[in-house]
Amino acid sequence: MLKRGMDVTVYERTSAFARFGGPIQFASNALSVIKSIDDELFDRIMAKFTFTGTRTCGIKDGLRAEGFKMTNDAMSYLWDESKPADWFVKFPLKQCADLYGLPFTGVIDRPDLQEILIDECRKIKPDFLLNGNAVVGYESMGKGKGVKVKLADGSNPHADVLVGSDGIWSAVRGQMYGETIKGTSPNGKKKQGCTYSGYTVFAGETTLSTPDYYETGYKVYIGPQRYFVTSDVGEGRIQWYAFFALPPGTKKAPSGWGGSERDGQADPEEDLVQYIKSLHQGWSDEVHYVLDNTPKESVEQRDLYDRAPELLRSWADGNVVLCGDAVHPMMPNLGQGGCQAIEDAYVLTEMLANTKKTTDLEDTLKDFYKKRIVRVSIVQFLSRLASDLIINAFDTPWSPHDDKGKSWKSYLTFFWKPVLQLAIFPAQFAYLYSYYPSGNMGGIPKVLEEAWRKKHKPTSEMAFQEADRVRREGGKVKMTASFFQKAEEIGDKVEV
Ligand SMILES: Cc1cc2nc3c(=O)[nH]c(=O)nc-3n(C[C@H](O)[C@H](O)[C@H](O)COP(=O)(O)OP(=O)(O)OC[C@H]3O[C@@H](n4cnc5c(N)ncnc54)[C@H](O)[C@@H]3O)c2cc1C
Repeated sequence: MLKRGMDVTVYERTSAFARFGGPIQFASNALSVIKSIDDELFDRIMAKFTFTGTRTCGIKDGLRAEGFKMTNDAMSYLWDESKPADWFVKFPLKQCADLYGLPFTGVIDRPDLQEILIDECRKIKPDFLLNGNAVVGYESMGKGKGVKVKLADGSNPHADVLVGSDGIWSAVRGQMYGETIKGTSPNGKKKQGCTYSGYTVFAGETTLSTPDYYETGYKVYIGPQRYFVTSDVGEGRIQWYAFFALPPGTKKAPSGWGGSERDGQADPEEDLVQYIKSLHQGWSDEVHYVLDNTPKESVEQRDLYDRAPELLRSWADGNVVLCGDAVHPMMPNLGQGGCQAIEDAYVLTEMLANTKKTTDLEDTLKDFYKKRIVRVSIVQFLSRLASDLIINAFDTPWSPHDDKGKSWKSYLTFFWKPVLQLAIFPAQFAYLYSYYPSGNMGGIPKVLEEAWRKKHKPTSEMAFQEADRVRREGGKVKMTASFFQKAEEIGDKVEV
């Protein structure tokens, strides 16, 4: 918005910026939006980026995968027992990015991204960001008369438009939809209009060399009633997520995601890595190898809430509009929550830039919702479907060579394999990447990938050597930036 000449002020609840939060995946569609916003911004993000979508990513068999092998997709494992069938499905991420000429999906550390964004915005308006003053409500003043923003310190600045981009527990949505912030239903399954998805996720990070480190991007290991995800997040680091179908509030680990204050561990003595290992008994050594090498104090947990798509409820109320997680929080399975928030921001900016009279702003905000609702609802739906299918409909696939998958779900999972590989995933990723305002970027994605590859190996090797040395000496492996890193000390107070 600043780039398009608008005078923007961000009111941020937290009292100061601190490096906090783990890596976030940006899919090709979000990278296209960033390129369209600003070349300098795009280049700076690319300098900190780790491409995953140019390597093998997909679903592995959590019980049968063995030794981080890279096998091809041949069906010969069915009659030849010596052929491993560890990859259930491979995602066509590179093919779909190439289809539109886009940079490949990858990850960036959230603090790096935020630092770059803040810096680029400050170049245009040095005081655009006002910290430590939460938005508590608003009063829309009528057509062409703007909005009074109610802030925690009691002041009421006036603006033409208020954009509620204040995350899943949004105060702006609270007022717009008549919800109490974080108001919880008696059975604990609804919180401020959001539904408990049925899943809690544990996450951790380690610096670890695996035989397939350079060949794979991210892997989803499926098995009975749970799934385990690992991703290369650059500089030798592996981030993992363990998803379990457990009731809400089955909280054991600290939580500090999304800028919220990191709370304590239920039982500070408990080794959470051992707990997560115990829930993966009989699973592949690949999963246990990653867990065995994870510092136990790195583990965090979050109950996952999302919202069902609401096609008919407007995101606008007079001169106020919602975007991002404030209006469409989604399950993290497709790594699209942040990407959709970025798409929202871009579309809203273009529409506001094309609005010439303040009396037209209310209609622009209503049109913005209409323009975004279908795509966002599809992505929300697909994100939910992905976790529901993996946990409720999938099981270890049937194989003629062992007894690990013998339930009816195992047979179903076996038959899903070609359909997912050849039809469903190609269609899904082609749809996700189909929003690309930059247009086809020609040779740029290849050049970026080559430049990244040159530095990925040396920086990772250095990190592996350092991690090995520390492990040999019995110390803790030091992480660079990670989601579990505590907020930096600011003065004598810890700020997040
Ligand atoms: C485990 C997990 C993994 C994920 N992985 C990915 C991924 O790989 N890729 C991806 O694209 N998405 C991912 N997501 C989703 C992504 O994190 C969110 O969709 C994204 O952060 C939403 O951005 P936002 O700006 O709408 O909200 P937020 O990032 O939540 O930002 C809201 C901001 O508003 C501030 N705020 C809150 N209330 C107020 C108030 N009243 N007044 C002023 N300020 C306020 C907050 O402090 C915060 O700075 C993941 C989510 C989870 C839970």
